[in-house]
Amino acid sequence: MTDIARSRAWRELDLDALAHNARILSAALAPGCSLMAVVKADAYGHGAVPAARHLQRCGVRAFAVACLAEGIALRRAGIGRQILILGYTAPEQAPLLRHWDLTQTVADEAHGAALAARGIPLSVHLALDTGMHRLGIPAGDLSAIARMYALKPLQIRGVFSHLCVSDSLAEEDRDYTRRQLQLFYETLSRMRARGLDPGETHIQASYGIWNLPLQPCTWARAGIALYGVASDEGPTLRALDLRPVLSLRARVASVRTLQRGEGAGYGLAFRAGDSPRRIAAAAIGYADGLPRSLPQQGGEVLLRGTRCPMAGRLCMDQLLLDVTAVPEAAAGDIITLIGRDGGTELRAETVAARCSTITNELLSRLGARLPVVVRGGSTPCTRKERQAEASSG
Ligand SMILES: *Cc1c(COP(=O)(O)O)cnc(C)c1O
Repeated sequence: MTDIARSRAWRELDLDALAHNARILSAALAPGCSLMAVVKADAYGHGAVPAARHLQRCGVRAFAVACLAEGIALRRAGIGRQILILGYTAPEQAPLLRHWDLTQTVADEAHGAALAARGIPLSVHLALDTGMHRLGIPAGDLSAIARMYALKPLQIRGVFSHLCVSDSLAEEDRDYTRRQLQLFYETLSRMRARGLDPGETHIQASYGIWNLPLQPCTWARAGIALYGVASDEGPTLRALDLRPVLSLRARVASVRTLQRGEGAGYGLAFRAGDSPRRIAAAAIGYADGLPRSLPQQGGEVLLRGTRCPMAGRLCMDQLLLDVTAVPEAAAGDIITLIGRDGGTELRAETVAARCSTITNELLSRLGARLPVVVRGGSTPCTRKERQAEASSG
């Protein structure tokens, strides 16, 4: 396990916050509807293996990834529960899908036919296009759906769709979402009437949980909400008590004084101005996934509980900070780029907004060069464990 003492920069994964969020989200779903944990893109930059292992321990029974390699990595790490691949897998990879017992999304009719043509029994979920027009068989096309059921190698275990404007509270977007939902459920009933068993069903992602009434499905696929942040700072209809799971930290490598008028960094883009400034270099850069524009967008960090502005241009592996407000700042100090430091917090939503992006992008781009340091995980997380602890004392 990676330890902080040896790291120059790292991602901190709070397993207790993750388990807490899984519990809150599960409780926010309709009876009979369970959480499918979306752990694609290295669990949105949080570390897919430790995140999925802990969620499995806490009773999560289904996981979603984006691609075959992510699914195999989870199997190798001991995830035994259902793993659904949400994205495309080349039909040539059918033997691996089978070997690793992964459930594949059928992206459209041609994909289904090509997968089936490999002649290998495959567990699949059919994606239905209810209006996003990205992946899926057009939801109204019952004949195309029936043709998928006629393909013997495809074992259709589920049917799902994805909402494209459920994050918006604008009336026309809410209407659009209602039409997507209606089309989805109508298609499911028409399938059943034809004797086509949809199996497991799912349509909500995080914003479908935040903004929609309870949905009568098997699963809800939560990604960003599971990590305790919203995609942006916009409002949601339901308030869920979620906790940020990730902190991003790095160490100060060196501190120096800049005399008045002196510049620092590439292009000497930071200038000391009329008075001397204390400048620190921290050991993290854009190669770690930080947006290069962050210092110019008002980027700041927490150092010894104080907010310090980023300075000059972000380098590939270094970040300059104006630490004039923290005279004790010294090499070896830990800076927080996302997360809490004492009583202060820097939220991922704020950082993402500064760079005109969403937290999903900001977090999922945090690079593999940043080791994952795991915190917590010893708090009881299943109901049984909690009851055992409560009754013992
Ligand atoms: C990424 C993804 C999700 C998770 O979305 P969040 O908004 O992060 O909850 C759910 N479903 C599909 C199909 C996805 O691609």
